[in-house]
Parts: sequence; structure tokens; C-alpha cells
Amino acid sequence: MPFFINVILPLPLENHFTYSVSKAEAEFLKPGMRVAVPFGKSKIYTGIVAEVHQNDPQIYEAKPVEQILDETPVVTEAQLKFWYWIASYYMCTVGEVLRAAIPSAFLLESETIVQVLKGVSINDEDLSDDEFLLFEALQSQSSMKINEIIQLLDKKTVLPVINSLVEKKIIAVNQEIYEQYRPKVERHVKLHDKYSEEAAMHQLLDELSRAPKQREVIFTLFGMAAKSNGAVKVSELCKASNASSAVIKALINKQVLKEIEVETSRIAFEGGELSNMVKLNDHQQQALEEIEKAFETEDVCLLHGITSSGKTEIYVELIEKVIASGKQVLYLLPEIALTTQLITRLQNYFGEKVLVFHSKYSVNERVEVYQNVLRNTEKARIVIGVRSSIFLPFHDLGLVIVDEEHESTFKQYDPAPRYNARDLAVVLGKMRDAKVLLGSATPSLESYFNAVHNKYTLVNLDRRYGNVLLPEIEIVDIKEKHRKKRMTGHFSDRLLEEIREALNEKEQVILFQNRRGFSPILECNTCGHSPQCPNCDVSLTFHSHNNQLRCHYCGYHIAMQLKCMACGSIELSTKGFGTEKVETELKALFPGHQIGRMDLDTTRGKHGYEKIISAFEQGEIDVLIGTQMLTKGLDFRNVRLVGIMNADTLLNFPDFRAHERSFQLMLQVSGRAGRTQKRGRVLIQTYNPHHQIVQQVSTNNFLEMYREQLEERRNYKYPPFYRLIRITLKGRDYTRVNEGADWLATSLKNSLHENVLGPEFPPIARIRNEYYKNILIKIPQKQSLAKTKNLVSRVLQSFKAIGAYRGVKTVINVDPY
Ligand code: ADP
Ligand code: ZN
Ligand code: ZN
Repeated sequence: MPFFINVILPLPLENHFTYSVSKAEAEFLKPGMRVAVPFGKSKIYTGIVAEVHQNDPQIYEAKPVEQILDETPVVTEAQLKFWYWIASYYMCTVGEVLRAAIPSAFLLESETIVQVLKGVSINDEDLSDDEFLLFEALQSQSSMKINEIIQLLDKKTVLPVINSLVEKKIIAVNQEIYEQYRPKVERHVKLHDKYSEEAAMHQLLDELSRAPKQREVIFTLFGMAAKSNGAVKVSELCKASNASSAVIKALINKQVLKEIEVETSRIAFEGGELSNMVKLNDHQQQALEEIEKAFETEDVCLLHGITSSGKTEIYVELIEKVIASGKQVLYLLPEIALTTQLITRLQNYFGEKVLVFHSKYSVNERVEVYQNVLRNTEKARIVIGVRSSIFLPFHDLGLVIVDEEHESTFKQYDPAPRYNARDLAVVLGKMRDAKVLLGSATPSLESYFNAVHNKYTLVNLDRRYGNVLLPEIEIVDIKEKHRKKRMTGHFSDRLLEEIREALNEKEQVILFQNRRGFSPILECNTCGHSPQCPNCDVSLTFHSHNNQLRCHYCGYHIAMQLKCMACGSIELSTKGFGTEKVETELKALFPGHQIGRMDLDTTRGKHGYEKIISAFEQGEIDVLIGTQMLTKGLDFRNVRLVGIMNADTLLNFPDFRAHERSFQLMLQVSGRAGRTQKRGRVLIQTYNPHHQIVQQVSTNNFLEMYREQLEERRNYKYPPFYRLIRITLKGRDYTRVNEGADWLATSLKNSLHENVLGPEFPPIARIRNEYYKNILIKIPQKQSLAKTKNLVSRVLQSFKAIGAYRGVKTVINVDPY
């Protein structure tokens, strides 16, 4: 009987692919191991073994595997099970989950490489023109990939040419598969063995008397090597002996020093003393006990603790107990909150037991985290990470903490799987028998609903640590201020007064302006034209620092215009205001102060974000202006005043969640004020001072907001009462997208009736020259989710089979918020 394996390939394919293996291979292979397999015409992919079996696929002939890449599985069976769950729930393929779940460096790249055999001599007349051309090219390049040969010969079918040259024994083709991952190595040097004798050593020093720099290096090495059994890092040696690397190189060449390469970990804890845990106050202690009590019988707990109530210290206590019992802890954070602040805090308590999984980590760093978790090392007791760390190969997970659980960055939008890591944490907890703690000062409506309806246990913590008062919140009616001419640019007289006072008392200020999308656009005063992106349906926004007009969707940019492109008028003005505009105005108003800005533009690069945060912490910045990024769980000590420049842009956002989000955002940003004894102050500027959300923020009334919003959700058929699936159609051909969307919506309405909404163009209907149209499916609680998804899949399959709609892509998003 022949043997087969099913392989998951990192591709959006509906099915598994089956490959044949020998009996010995079948006995060796286990689910979760990597294999290199041929796919398509000449491609080799790395896949994960899902199953070893003896069922011939019959409809096609199973090809043999190319190579087995692992001795032991890199994916655990528990992970595989989790992947299948995700694929089914979020309506994507397991291959797509695979691609999101393991570091890309694990998915070996395969390239077919062609080389000339050594020492061949040829007879020109024996070769065709193409063959000769290729042979000649290979003389100068030593090896070429298939793709390069296609370009060289300018034709698609190059395989016959290659085959013919192989038959003539002129070239060799080998599938070279290489691992992209390379561990980081550090150069160390030590004294050559021959100088272990004292006499040899003295002779050396004599010889070096005419090379004082080299002598200095040897002396320094003595001192350092005593502490590090012989070998020292080249960079450190250079620094300590004040020598250039050329000096070291000379010593290596003379064979005085020996060079060794040492593999190091990229994710090492930098060392330092561990701090003791703090003692919880009574309120924290009580919350902790409630959580522990709940975990005796329940799986999920929601900790609703106001800003600065000391939630982190409670997490620390729980983590301590879980790792003491030998289990692992996963601490999930929203993308941007992954600041050095929290990591430092946890590393101070737990030292080397903390691993960090950051979105800005390099491929190799991710591999190291993955390997440590897989091998269940001492370093992998606690993993702090962003949403994708939910996929790590935990062995014995005891606790998952989802901090700031209301954050929308737990949801992945593109590409598939379009998962929400908070929701997956609950699923993972169930599967792995781990407890899940959701924490927030402003829980999401769904989680709070689940807590109120006894799906989760609710624990409240409504006192700030040290009994610091919540900030005083003042609403400033800017319509009124405009009327009375009390505005300077975008600042009301009240806000300016408060800023002045805080700065006089050497305290800091945070100003919040909603995201970049509200940045200034250029408008012609004569004809009203504003420059548009040629690829997307949006106006270009003005960036003063480089004097450009840019598209925030596709990156298209042009120089700032001096004349209107439509009518030639030179009377142009900028409308709207972003963080940059606020910064410019403020610099003019407070020339003697340091003003910083934190938004997507200023935080690019690996440490961009940390740099600004730490400058603010160190008091190098007096006023920090920022977007959403500012709201996330930061703990600043000296912030007296928080100003919200304009609440209305948040409230008017066209989304069913806009009000909930506005509440969360404003309350979170307010929470940055006055975290020490002195009471902080928050000013909210708005055109709608009586808006219920503004009122609820100013009175810190979460419950009222919850009840009101829940009522709206019930009335308008939104979560948690209805589940949502959104189908987006996109394509370059406007008519096809339009007609395809109509067909799809009509077909769905046949069975789902009034619970299918649309098709509708989204607010921005064209991005990068592709047209978008949305269909929204609402699923009532009593309707089967699985059956509905089945139906949707079937309808989509019929859709894909229709020739007229070819080129129209469909994107399914389950829980699209
Ligand atoms: P939250 O996460 O709820 O906003 P934090 O955990 O950041 O609050 O706590 C706010 C501040 O109070 C932090 O600076 C923290 O170090 C301090 N803190 C909290 N609990 C204690 C405690 N039991 N003893 C000493 N300091 C504490
Ligand atoms: Zn004009
Ligand atoms: Zn664009």
C-alpha cells in the first residue's frame, strides 16, 4: 500500500494537497512538520503536514515530496486544531491562517537554480541559438534562476532549452532550498592558544613594543578576558582599548588573536536588578480575590477598572501565580500600546522570563520568539505581544490577559484571516483550558454585555490608585466662542488660559486631535476645486513639513500647488486641521516652549514611537500633540492638562460604533491627566456641548453610555444582538463591480431577505484604481451561524463561476468591526 500526506500550503486554496511518500518517510513524518513540495509548473513551496494516511487522492496523481525539512514538528497539534477553527469561523483557508501564524522565515523560499557544469567544453554548432545564449550568460553569472532565464531569452517556455542542455551534460539544475533564517552571530576574539605559556607571552609583548596600539589591545584583553573565560566581543574590545577594528584585524592576521563567532539571542533581557512586587491596596486586593474566585469555576473574567486604578499590578500578581505553577502566560496588547513602559515594568518583575513579540520586530527576531515558545524554554514563561502572538506554539497555557480589550487594533483587516485577537483569546482559552482576563477602563459594548449576561464574570475597580481624583472635565462650546470672537485659530480662550497656567507651573500638556484623515486639504477660493488623487476618490492632504500634497490611501504625492489646477487662480487656502496644523499654531503662540507631535508621520521606524514617549517622560517636551496613539494606556506623571481639540470629528464618523468609540477615546485620553496627587483637568472643545456622549464623558458615566448605546444597537440590528458578515467586491472595472454586487445581493436576499443590506459604495469608493462595493449580512441570534456561512459560501462559489464577473474579487469579513 502506498503512503500519502496531506499538506497545508501557505496559499488561498480551498483544499489540501496530497503528496506521496515512502513507507519510511510516512513513519518518520508527523503532523506539524515542514515539507518542501512541488506545486504548479516549477514552483516549490514549504507546507505543513496535516495528516499522514493511505488514501490515494485518485482524481490526480500525487507527486512525491521534495524534501522533509524538520526532525520534529514546528507546529503543534493544538495549533493545527486552532487553525481549522479560525479558518472555519472567519471563512478563509487554513493556508491563509498558516501564513499569518508562523514566521515567514519558516516558509522556505524555493528557487530553481541553473548552473554550468564544471570543466565542460562545447562545440558551438551543437547548440541552438537559445541554448548558446543561456550558456554564455552562465559563463559570466555562474548561476541563474528560472525567472531570470525567462527574461534573458524573452520567452515563457524555457524548460525545453534547459532540459536539452541538461541532456547534453552542459548544465545542472538543482532545486536549492535554503533557510532564510540566520541566527545572529557576534564576533569575539581570544588570544591564540600558543600564548598560554608565560614565556611566549613575554616574547609577544616585546615584539609588540613597536606597535603601542596593538599592545594596548592585548593588555585590555587580559583585563576583560579574566571575567569572560577568554573570549571577548570585538566591539567591546575596540571600545575599551580605544582601538579601531583595523588594529584588531592586524592582530588576527598576525595570528596573535583568534576570531570566533558566537551565536547570540536577539531578544535578550538587558539585565539589571529585579524589583519586588508592590503591595496591592484594599481595592486591588479585593478585585484580585474576585478574579481568582471566578477562575475557580469560570473561564473568562472582565476587569472594568478606571484609568490609573492599578490594573497592571493586579495582572502582575496573577502572572506570578500562574508561572509559579509551571504554566505559560500570554499578555496581549493593542498594537501601539506596546511601549517600553509596560515591557520595562514586567521585565523589572520577571526579568528573563518575559518574551516580547512586536510587530516591528524583524523576521529573525520573530523566529527566536517562536522557537523559544515552541521549545518551552525558561525565557518563554510570559509572552507580551500584539494580536499575532495569539498564534504562538504554547505548550501549557495557564492565562491569557487581554489588556485594553476594547481596542480596535485587535482586529486584523487585511489580509485574511480577518480575526479579532480578543475573541480568539476566549476561544484559545477554551481549547487549552486556560483562563482569560479581559481588562479595560472602557470595555467594549460586547464584552460588557457578555459580562452583564453572565457569560463572563464582571469585576469592578472604580478607585484610582492612591485615591487620586479623576480629572475635572470642562466642556467648551466653540460655536459660542467663535460668535464671541474668542478663538485664536483652533484654540478657545479657555484652552489657551489653561495651557498657559500649566506651563507656568512647569507641568505638561497633552493635546488630542483626531487622526490624520482630518488633515488640511487645499481649496481654491475662486472655483472651489481641490486637488484629488488620480487613483483614489479622496482629496490630497497638505503636509507642510515637506510642502507636499499626499494621498493617505495610496501614497501618491505632488508638490504643493501655487495656482489652482482648474482655473489658475492663485487664491488658495487650506481647509480642515490636523496635528501638524495644531503644532504650527501652537508654536507661534508659545515660542518659548518645546512642542512635540506624535502621529503616523512622526513615529515611523522601529523606535520612532518610543523616542517621542521617552522625550515626553523626561520632560524634554512641554506640550505633546497627538492622535489616537496618545490614548493607549500610557502612564505619565506630570501631565496636568489634556485638551481635546474637537470632539465632533469623532462623533460624526459614519459607523455604528462611532459613539461608543468616541466615548472610549475621550475617556482614555482624559485618563492621561493628573495621575499623581494634583487633580488633572480636561477641556473638551466641541460644537455640540449637549451631545449625550460628551455629557457622559464629562460625568464619567459608563453605565449610562452602555445602556443608551445598547438600545440603539437593538433598534438598528447591530451587535451584540445581530452578527455581521460583510462582503466587499472590488475590481478595476466599474460596471462589473456594480453588476456583480447586484447579482450577489439579489442571490443572498433570496434566502436571507431583509437581513441583507446593500450593495452600497463605501465612503471612499475607489482606492488605487479599484472600485469597492459592500454588502452587509445581519444574522439574528436565533439563526444558525454555521448554516448562514454555508449559504454565503455556496452563493460566492456560484458567483465566481460567472464569466461576466471575472476580475471582481470578493473579500469576506466576519465580525467586520
Ligand atoms: P491602570 O493600568 O489601571 O491605568 P496602572 O497599573 O498603570 O493603572 O497604575 C497607575 C499607577 O499607580 C502606576 O504608576 C502604578 O505603578 C501605580 N500603582 C498601582 N498600584 C500600586 C500599588 N499597589 N502600589 C504602588 N503603586 C501602585
Ligand atoms: Zn480654481
Ligand atoms: Zn490615492
